[in-house]
Amino acid sequence: MSAAKVAPEVGTRIEWLAPLHEWGLDPGAVLDRIPSCATDFRPELRASGTPDSVDTYDLITLPYPTRFGLWRASMAPAPFVSITNRMLVVRWTELDGRRRTLLFEPSDVELGTNTPYFAALTKRTPSRLADLLIQRHDDVLTHLRSAGIDPAEVDYLVFDHLHTQDVRRWLGTTTPQPDLGAPVPLEPIFPNARLLVQRSELIALDHLHPQQRPWYQPDTYRDLRTEAIVPIDGDILLGPGVAIVATPGHTTGNQTLVLNTSSGIWASSENAIAAECLVPRYSKLPGVRRWSEQWQQGVVVNANTVETIAAQYNSLILERSIVDVCERDSRFPQFFPSSELTRRWTNPGTAPTFTHQRITHRGGAKGSA
Ligand SMILES: [Zn+2]
Repeated sequence: MSAAKVAPEVGTRIEWLAPLHEWGLDPGAVLDRIPSCATDFRPELRASGTPDSVDTYDLITLPYPTRFGLWRASMAPAPFVSITNRMLVVRWTELDGRRRTLLFEPSDVELGTNTPYFAALTKRTPSRLADLLIQRHDDVLTHLRSAGIDPAEVDYLVFDHLHTQDVRRWLGTTTPQPDLGAPVPLEPIFPNARLLVQRSELIALDHLHPQQRPWYQPDTYRDLRTEAIVPIDGDILLGPGVAIVATPGHTTGNQTLVLNTSSGIWASSENAIAAECLVPRYSKLPGVRRWSEQWQQGVVVNANTVETIAAQYNSLILERSIVDVCERDSRFPQFFPSSELTRRWTNPGTAPTFTHQRITHRGGAKGSA
């Protein structure tokens, strides 16, 4: 039996997107299949219902190279854009009445600074300049405390991919962690939480390609409590209106959180840093519209890793095909960048045309199926 046919340990498999993951397909052939797969998936997600709540919390606003975030499209004079990392808290009720809580992108910001790329950047940036460029918002635990959520209530931790993430404090370890001042194994801050991660992302951690090395902290995954990690293969429906969809490209094991809410369907990932990157014809960012027309590019990817950029392009097209358009401005899709381009006076030429900033939902309506 192939891995694709094994029932997932968590959630239920989404069959409507399976044609996109057939082995050996050319990127152009995947692109051709996206419209019909997305058309089949959307009503199924809607029919599954909506979660009880979705809330958004800002974690940190930090500089990021313009040539990564907007790839070759931007003509901005600023070498850096600012992006804001945000956490989504999604809660729902299972059919048996159990409450579930999922944290999407709950970055341990403090430990993320040890990522090779950011460590090198910090070393060569004077601290006064760093203070000017970096804006720390509340951290994950402070946000949860103010939301009245006990860490023991958290069931799932999900990241779109594991770049920059160090989850040792969240999940606990089986060995002492001297670099964190822990002479004994770390107790998990989220004792009941499991990390839902694509199996391919975990495999990649063992064999990092030079293109990926600056972005990961592979050593921090060696001694995690294994029972706290659930590898998944592809696309799963986790709860009413809550799905994880494989969106390879930025990394092999990249994934997207897809939500059905009172304001329609949303998708969140780091595949692009602004909603306008999915509809570059509406972008006022210098260069973006013209570049996309000149090169006939339907989207502008967040390209800090370029080894599988055609797949990432396809993933953005899939995200755009799944979501609804924004009620506030129907030119822009409800693609919610987990790191969203943010206007800062320090970065001329990088003010976004449109930002989402948050997803807020209250509901829990059951679907029709
Ligand atoms: Zn990344």
